[in-house]
Amino acid sequence: MQRHGWNLLIAILIAGFGLCGAPAALADVCAICGKPINGTVYVVTDQVTGAREIICSDCAKLPRCYICGLPIKKGEELELPDGRYLCARDAKTVVLKTDEAEQICAGVKGGLDRLFFRFTSFPTNVDVTVIDHIDAYTIFQSESPGLLGCTKPLTDENGRKRYEISLMTGLPLSELKETCAHEYSHTWVGENVNRTQRGLGRDAEEGFCEMVGYLLMDSQQDELEKKRILQNRYTRGQVDLFIEAEKRYGFDQILDWMKYGTTAQLEAGHLEKIRDVNVPAPAAAT
Ligand SMILES: [Zn+2]
Ligand SMILES: [Zn+2]
Repeated sequence: MQRHGWNLLIAILIAGFGLCGAPAALADVCAICGKPINGTVYVVTDQVTGAREIICSDCAKLPRCYICGLPIKKGEELELPDGRYLCARDAKTVVLKTDEAEQICAGVKGGLDRLFFRFTSFPTNVDVTVIDHIDAYTIFQSESPGLLGCTKPLTDENGRKRYEISLMTGLPLSELKETCAHEYSHTWVGENVNRTQRGLGRDAEEGFCEMVGYLLMDSQQDELEKKRILQNRYTRGQVDLFIEAEKRYGFDQILDWMKYGTTAQLEAGHLEKIRDVNVPAPAAAT
């Protein structure tokens, strides 16, 4: 799972600002250092609040917070061991302790089972670990700046299937919960769907996982996180179709389609195709 729009610092040069004849009383003040700006004005978007802030050229060079994308005031930065920086505000909202992140994820698993107990349960053959960007580099052999979490199927020493969920350290609490729900949904797919035989598309699987996270956030009235899920273009629109289909046809129908559907992904304008499923005849009792 990737964060969308990561570290996009939108710097707009307001050309000829000094020529506009703006009175000194209205001089722009840098949102970071608080000093009046002489010269180039940069506009940056706070990825947490969505607010546009103006900053000076000196502050534009400072290290940026990996959560909000804003430069961090000198002396207020928290540097993580993997080289990421956090601003003082966002440092308060993120989960940095490994055992805390694992506990939160265990809580999410319980939450998913309670929320969907009438339909299914989520796998228990799962180990949860917490990683940072250096671990991610080792796993993927490349930089993955927007990585939130990943799930890997494994075979244990007794030949049984297991899953390892890796969660990125330093995520805001809501994002950590949603990522955990997303990754648990991948383990559900791994246990319940024959991806190749079924011909399930990658975007559809991601859309399903995001929908599960969305429904969990909805049950916790986490409107901000719900908004973040909908803004993310990661699933190429599949998450929106899943949410709509769940409202119309119910969660049970979604699970049936995931397992036995005849199309690779959901189609806008043709959500009724979610009803086309090839449920296999029950196996003879032994
Ligand atoms: Zn995913
Ligand atoms: Zn920040």
